[in-house]
Amino acid sequence: MANNRTFTMIKPDAFEAGNSGAILKMIEEAGFKIVAMKATQLTPVLAGKFYEVHKERPFYADLCKYMSSGPIIAAILEKDNAVEDFRALIGATNPANAAEGTIRKIFAKSIEANAVHGSDSDENAAIEGNFYFSQTERVL
Ligand code: ADP
Ligand code: MG
Repeated sequence: MANNRTFTMIKPDAFEAGNSGAILKMIEEAGFKIVAMKATQLTPVLAGKFYEVHKERPFYADLCKYMSSGPIIAAILEKDNAVEDFRALIGATNPANAAEGTIRKIFAKSIEANAVHGSDSDENAAIEGNFYFSQTERVL
């Protein structure tokens, strides 16, 4: 996935609010191609694994509870400079600090329920895509 793929989740708050379609539209209009996608739901244990890097942070337990609270959409996206460009499209972690026009500015409810995930590196994009999609689901 070097340099041209990233991984995203539409998080439970955005899915529940019925914003998945609008968010996917923004993602496609920004030039990202969907190469794998599914609706699913994390268990608390799987959410804990996905966010293991944050396990010492004070918000970790709440984050795992929130991320397993309802359905999400997981997707692998393709574009030149995917990781960096997608982080720009989603905006800052805290929607209060996110730039106008970014996905989090438009759709996020709080710093925790912030509508979407975006990988922070090529290495993590590959790890996160592999976490959700088996080899046979990653045919593109
Ligand atoms: P990002 O998703 O922008 O890469 P982080 O990797 O730092 O942000 O955090 C992972 C997720 O944990 C965030 O998207 C958000 O859902 C949650 N989170 C981050 N910081 C906080 C916080 N201070 N309080 C509550 N939840 C937080
Ligand atoms: Mg992160």
